Amino acid sequence: MKCAQLLQETCDLAVEFLQQTPDRPVAHAVGFRSLLEAVGGPLPDSPTPALDVIEHLAHAADPGLVASAGPRYFGFVTGGALPVAVAADWLTTAWDQNAFCYASSPAAAAVEEIATGWLLDLFSLPSDMSVGFTTGATMSNFSALAAARRALLAGCGWNVEEQGLAGAPPFTVVTSDESHASVFAALQMLGLGRSRVTRVPTDNQGRMRVTELAKVLDRIETPVLLCAQAGNVNTGAFDPIADIANILRGREAWLHVDGAFGLWAAASPKYAGLVDGIALADSIAVDCHKWLNVPYDSGVVMVRDREAHRAAMTLNAPYYGSGSERARDNFNWVPENSRRARAFPVYAALRTLGRQGVADLIERCCSLARRMADRLRSQPGLELLNDVVLNQVLIRVIPPEPSAAPSFTADVIRRIQEEGVCWLGGTHWHGTPAIRASVSNWSTTEADIDISVDSVLRSVEAATRDSEAVMAWR
Ligand SMILES: *Cc1c(COP(=O)(O)O)cnc(C)c1O
Repeated sequence: MKCAQLLQETCDLAVEFLQQTPDRPVAHAVGFRSLLEAVGGPLPDSPTPALDVIEHLAHAADPGLVASAGPRYFGFVTGGALPVAVAADWLTTAWDQNAFCYASSPAAAAVEEIATGWLLDLFSLPSDMSVGFTTGATMSNFSALAAARRALLAGCGWNVEEQGLAGAPPFTVVTSDESHASVFAALQMLGLGRSRVTRVPTDNQGRMRVTELAKVLDRIETPVLLCAQAGNVNTGAFDPIADIANILRGREAWLHVDGAFGLWAAASPKYAGLVDGIALADSIAVDCHKWLNVPYDSGVVMVRDREAHRAAMTLNAPYYGSGSERARDNFNWVPENSRRARAFPVYAALRTLGRQGVADLIERCCSLARRMADRLRSQPGLELLNDVVLNQVLIRVIPPEPSAAPSFTADVIRRIQEEGVCWLGGTHWHGTPAIRASVSNWSTTEADIDISVDSVLRSVEAATRDSEAVMAWR
């Protein structure tokens, strides 16, 4: 089979999937074992024609595919993929550039450099921050905290890259009670210890309390690595970054902000106030595969101290150098060596949307989240738990009996997911089982919100009816 024919037919399969995405059930209840059987079998001894393999894969995987790129997937914080970003991602794959240094792909280096400037401009950040294109916010948090570790220890005369952590002077990691799990994963990978942190209490929206932070800092004598957050995964709330930066002023400190999805507020004049002070951060993590709506895997790390960033990430192998002093070697800013040229889709999305288009995307999602919240909040049996400041909606379903809250909430979620109109997931909010919705997709419409709310209300009603029937029977 000719390469061109294989790729054309594969393209047809992909387009067919994308066209069906808005209408297919958002997810299927599918057994892991049956999926394994459908896709599996022993490793073949002999070759299989390429198109047969692709067709079999598309067919066998289909029941296990989630329409998370579609307009009514509200689980976790999950963006879709703009058509232009998918197209650029296809090119990225076809070009198969190794984006590790300038020499291995001048085009990948140039596009990363341009996307770097555009992102810093879009977020109103200092134009000389160093930027790395990672697999996601987890690796962005990791890279940023590695740069922080470098800088704080260098300030004590310790070269952690050369000397390691054993015997290093101490510094204190401060997080919030609500820091994202990936921050702790980064600390664990960096030898900083996921539990060796001081946690600052938060308010009822999950924002770090500045008065509590001040008390915590009073007791600390070492340099401080402070992990703040722009956009709480449950509530969408923001730590008061300007106040936090202010409190840290004059101390040996590094302020990191995990803005995986919340930093996108900075791209909208209407919401930029939420990240007031962000330009004072020493490092920031953000995801493009969430709210910019580019395909996975696409995160960005931004660091003010370029030298610390570079020292923490570089391979330190002189023979990799580009030779041309001003060209970009991507490996200096990320943990990987050989890697996908993941800035192409970011570039394509930004170029297509423009500043205005990004702002519109963010504002549209926020207004759809408010629409969802407004309808849910007025329903008996439901309680809105968060101030909908951004794109996250957090609700509690009120069980017929208080003790039944966990199982009742789980039952409602199961019914919603089984209906397949939309997909919502469960969470815990300050001890209460809750349901969370994140509106992050470029293609979601008001009608999508309305039929999704209808499905939630049907599910709550059915769960209530069933549980009352059980109570009556008892
Ligand atoms: C999603 C998320 C992360 C992790 O990002 P990945 O892209 O999944 O690695 C970190 N922090 C916050 C606040 C997030 O929402």
